[in-house]
Amino acid sequence: MTRITCIGLGNMGGPMAANLVAAGHAVTGFDLSADMLKAAAERGVSSAPTLEQAVVDAEVVITMLPKGQHVLRVWATLVTLSRPGQLLIDCSTIDVDSARKAHQMAAAAQCLSLDAPVSGGTSGAEAGTLTFMAGGSVEAFERSRPVLEAMGRKIVHCGDDGAGQAAKICNNMILGISMIGVCEAFVLAESLGLSHQALFDVASTSSGQCWSLTSYCPVPGPVPASPANKDYQPGFAAALMLKDLKLSQEAAMASGAATPLGAAAAQLYGMLDRQGQGGRDFSAIIEMLRGKTAVE
Ligand code: NAD
Repeated sequence: MTRITCIGLGNMGGPMAANLVAAGHAVTGFDLSADMLKAAAERGVSSAPTLEQAVVDAEVVITMLPKGQHVLRVWATLVTLSRPGQLLIDCSTIDVDSARKAHQMAAAAQCLSLDAPVSGGTSGAEAGTLTFMAGGSVEAFERSRPVLEAMGRKIVHCGDDGAGQAAKICNNMILGISMIGVCEAFVLAESLGLSHQALFDVASTSSGQCWSLTSYCPVPGPVPASPANKDYQPGFAAALMLKDLKLSQEAAMASGAATPLGAAAAQLYGMLDRQGQGGRDFSAIIEMLRGKTAVE
């Protein structure tokens, strides 16, 4: 049993903390939202009234927060309260620069640190089947592993500080681009009189095969569990895809990498978001390509 504090108990952090409780850890939680604290308490998390009180006894602190600015603000406080050897893990999806700054703060306070963003969404967080992509020292990774295993199925050490965030934004850039590609193919098929099922049957067993097609098909029918069958309720909201694509483009600019399709995908998801569709699943971009949502 490890004493673990979870900061940020939202859609992802709440169920992740509950899985740590289920694995037998002593879990304390803190969130700015009283509703989130209450929901976590109902699942066995001891709620703390302040950040300071939440971390007082913690051996491990996990943050699951919206953006880099939130993580840096919380970690700036955490390191003033920390003890040497304490382990700090950030599971949020944030920019690589902020992740590296957070590691530097931890190192200055003699704490171990890991950036460990996740994929698998809210269903993976509930089921404890997330994939963790981790960046940091081997020592930090090995100490984190048993904690992460209570929340996920696959844990990959991607490299040094920031490597987890780098892997996350590269993966999601592939996903954004591939979803648009699959949607364009269905829109073209419609205009050529080819049925959804026929395109699916061919492409899913041919060189066009990819996750966006076979697990998350953007038209209703071929993959019954995909959000297209539920009027594009997320799933993975378009606004979150836009956030990750923007992070990939910031990183590409900063590092000088050429990512023209990533840039185009960010623009298209930006358009979808400005049309008020950010709360829908990211596969709903097919409706914009068909011209069903307002065109700018
Ligand atoms: P969320 O908005 O549901 O939860 C964030 C929580 O952080 C909120 O409850 C908020 O009150 C709390 N918070 C904000 N500032 C705080 C502070 N200073 N102290 C304490 N609590 C604070 O977001 P989420 O969906 O849980 O996502 C969290 C992170 O996980 C994001 O970085 C997101 O990109 C990433 N992510 C989300 C998904 C998904 O499907 N939702 C999938 C993969 C990764």
